Amino acid sequence: MRLLLIEDDAMIGAGVQRALRQDGYTVDWVRDGMAAELAVQDHPYELLLLDLGLPRRDGIELLQRLRAAGNTLPVLVLTARDTVTDRIRGLDAGADDYLVKPFDLDELGARVRALLRRQRGKSTPLLTLGALQVDPASHAVTLEGEPVRLSAREFSLLCALMEQPGRPLSRAQLEEKLYGWDEEVESNAVEVHIHALRRKLGTERIRNLRGVGYYMPEQP
Ligand code: CA
Repeated sequence: MRLLLIEDDAMIGAGVQRALRQDGYTVDWVRDGMAAELAVQDHPYELLLLDLGLPRRDGIELLQRLRAAGNTLPVLVLTARDTVTDRIRGLDAGADDYLVKPFDLDELGARVRALLRRQRGKSTPLLTLGALQVDPASHAVTLEGEPVRLSAREFSLLCALMEQPGRPLSRAQLEEKLYGWDEEVESNAVEVHIHALRRKLGTERIRNLRGVGYYMPEQP
């Protein structure tokens, strides 16, 4: 899952990016509001983490512009502005949730998971496909009740495929979900992770539609 972090403070930005990457997310990081607007146009993010006090376009203004343009991505505001008025302004501008700095990184992780769940429109946090079950919160994967160990990339890939069973994702779409723009992508990276997932979960669970992409059948 690919997230965009918009934060001009180097220390906070690095800490948030590191923590979320450890949780298995792909995290792109921009330092100002205009770069954020361009990034959102160019990449398929699933959530924005938005600081409000930003150079070259304030966070509130950015949020208003995104919402006015019909963008419905979940937005978690991260800010030092902790007065009630600022919180109300942020929520009125279209934020989905709010964290006041300094915040706990575990709480940040929990709020990100909650927003992503809400976005998927599911009351249950579990992703289930036949005998395969994935808990995005704990990263636990079980197949017929037995735990399966996956790397962070394998886990992200599996979540991307399970979120839309039966619908293929191209290699480029999967690379977009797995890698941030400052990460080197080896040419066969997606195939390598698919191969590992098939080995761990069974070949028949991930199919290839020639020339289109990979998908997980609803009934393997
Ligand atoms: Ca700031």
